[in-house]
Amino acid sequence: MPADLRLLDDDQRALVGLVREFCTGEVAGSVEDYERRGEDPAPLYAKLGELGLSGLPFPEEYGGGGQTYSSYLLAIEELAYHHLSFAIGVSVHTLCAFAVGEFGTDAQRKEVLSKLASGEWYGAYSLSESGSGSDAASLSTTAVRAGGSYLLNGGKLWCTRGNEADVVLLMARTGDAGAKGISAFLVAKGTAGFAGAKKEEKMGWRASPTWQLTLDDAEVPESRRLGEEGMGFRIAMASLDSGRLGIAACGIGLAQAALDATLDFTSEREQFGRPVNANQGVQFMLADMATEIEAGRRLYRHAAALRDAGEDYGMQAAQAKLFCTDVAMRITIDAVQLHGGYGYVTEYPAERFMRDAKGLQIVEGTNQIQRFVIGRRLTGP
Ligand SMILES: Cc1cc2nc3c(=O)[nH]c(=O)nc-3n(C[C@H](O)[C@H](O)[C@H](O)COP(=O)(O)OP(=O)(O)OC[C@H]3O[C@@H](n4cnc5c(N)ncnc54)[C@H](O)[C@@H]3O)c2cc1C
Repeated sequence: MPADLRLLDDDQRALVGLVREFCTGEVAGSVEDYERRGEDPAPLYAKLGELGLSGLPFPEEYGGGGQTYSSYLLAIEELAYHHLSFAIGVSVHTLCAFAVGEFGTDAQRKEVLSKLASGEWYGAYSLSESGSGSDAASLSTTAVRAGGSYLLNGGKLWCTRGNEADVVLLMARTGDAGAKGISAFLVAKGTAGFAGAKKEEKMGWRASPTWQLTLDDAEVPESRRLGEEGMGFRIAMASLDSGRLGIAACGIGLAQAALDATLDFTSEREQFGRPVNANQGVQFMLADMATEIEAGRRLYRHAAALRDAGEDYGMQAAQAKLFCTDVAMRITIDAVQLHGGYGYVTEYPAERFMRDAKGLQIVEGTNQIQRFVIGRRLTGP
């Protein structure tokens, strides 16, 4: 039961069709291999670029697809349906490109955004550190001016595709303690003193590499500072508002995949002489799963529509991230349950869906932090 496409316009339906064709033809067959090996699916990113799908929401003059953010999210949901780790990489890439498009100079847009939007380059995003997670404004990596450049020193944590990306949007401290002392930099792959120090061994998202990064007098030219000095935290937060919608769409794609696998399994598996899903107790669980998915889908699409209309959407993005990823967690747990013992073994994808859902509740602000964002909006001035 794929996502209901009835109310989409012709272009959106064509886009989802193209992504679906790519996924069924070239992505679906290799998911288990990449996940088992814990390997980044680099050839798939290259192919995505060739298909013109790596810069969907960016202007055509910079090599992008000129699509709305709503349309881009349809593609992300479809990618996540087939391979979550891959969809996460594309979502993070888009988050990095968004920042360049929104806060970059003309030269940075021409030089960096056009490479990102065309898929020649892929981007990553690095805010988190060992001592600074939810409290991101307390980060301690430093950037000190040296002639026409900055020297960056410190360590970053949890950077998705940090070692694979061609450029990392990286936040470092140029000033005093707190949010206003932070600046944003575009650190190119191969910069001397900048390296992936350790790849994490994770519960899920195994084909989405997560890196500890080290910066040891890494020299970044001033022309690669994004925005003015002190604007880095604002850039980081604006990028997260946008990125959270990508994570919400990932949650719905993953949840839909779990529901569909469960529908298949429970109609084929027979106990007491009839399919397992002929029991009303099972049907009630399936009904709740389908309803929550549809509610989540409406929520993220509503937030995206606000974004496309130029309206403030920060609270709705947090609500969508919170709800859609909690839905993904609940549904993947139920998917394992409804597979019985077969849900607990790697022969079926249900256990991977459940492991993958957990990561969605943690990244781009944990779901406690989403509640904090929503609560502050509701009660603040
Ligand atoms: C697989 C993976 C990929 C990631 N990719 C990236 C990436 O590409 N770039 C990047 O910059 N980061 C990335 N992250 C980091 C992620 O964003 C952080 O893990 C997350 O923001 C939480 O920070 P923390 O791990 O330091 O937890 P902490 O902030 O230490 O939180 C620990 C617990 O305390 C809770 N908590 C903290 N403060 C509050 C509060 N005020 N109120 C209520 N509860 C609170 C949290 O919700 C959490 O449950 C990634 C993480 C993972 C696991």
